[in-house]
Amino acid sequence: MTTKPSTNLFSEARRDPIDLPIPERVLTIGAHPDDAEFGAGGTLAKWAEAGCEISMLIVTDGSKGTWDEDQDPGELIAARRAEQRNAAEALGATGELVFGDFVDGELENSQELQRMISEWVRRLKPDVVLTFDPWKKYMMHPDHRAIGWGVIDGVVAARDHLFFPDQLTDGLTKHRPQAILLFAPEEADHHEDISSSFETKIDALMCHSSQGKTTMGDAHDSGEARELFAARIREWSERMGELAGLELAESFKLLRP
Ligand SMILES: [Zn+2]
Repeated sequence: MTTKPSTNLFSEARRDPIDLPIPERVLTIGAHPDDAEFGAGGTLAKWAEAGCEISMLIVTDGSKGTWDEDQDPGELIAARRAEQRNAAEALGATGELVFGDFVDGELENSQELQRMISEWVRRLKPDVVLTFDPWKKYMMHPDHRAIGWGVIDGVVAARDHLFFPDQLTDGLTKHRPQAILLFAPEEADHHEDISSSFETKIDALMCHSSQGKTTMGDAHDSGEARELFAARIREWSERMGELAGLELAESFKLLRP
């Protein structure tokens, strides 16, 4: 009997919870610009460097991402989309960059959201899909909970032909990703070494200059503030690395769809 070498990412992952084999195609799905960079920017940059095609889907318009009461929402949407293009470039993401029109802060795990996710999974055929862990305790932002559920349900739909069958008469075929990686997980069981890509993660995060006040501790105000921000992310990455014996890591819950 001959045994063929396995190309299944999940069977590799079961032998070793650190570092998946480099996927060919990956799709990150966030509620807002910057979600994927915070949760998995180091992993994405590392994979891009190794030749992986990374596509990014941002489902809301990002229109509530400010504490500035004079900020025009339309201008904020445009600014955040431009920032996301720069961040994708910084990460080395060469696949599709897709912006949805769901209203920021009002996302629900609806049929409409699941349909959109199913369509892009069937279209792009990623090996790995990344998003928030909806089981994470005390996750405050409503969109981060909703996108986690929406992606899991949308990936299940993309896999099975009886979900959104109209998509399958439209030239698309069903698709089953080999893994879903949930970032900011309640129970981490997979770790990616980001020691070589940590600085690229910071560069990509810094592209989101409109978010300096809300989520980045005024990181754009001075060189010193940027260093403090980078140190905070480094400390977080070190803590995740400790779980896996790595210097710097991003940790995930790995699901097999
Ligand atoms: Zn977010």
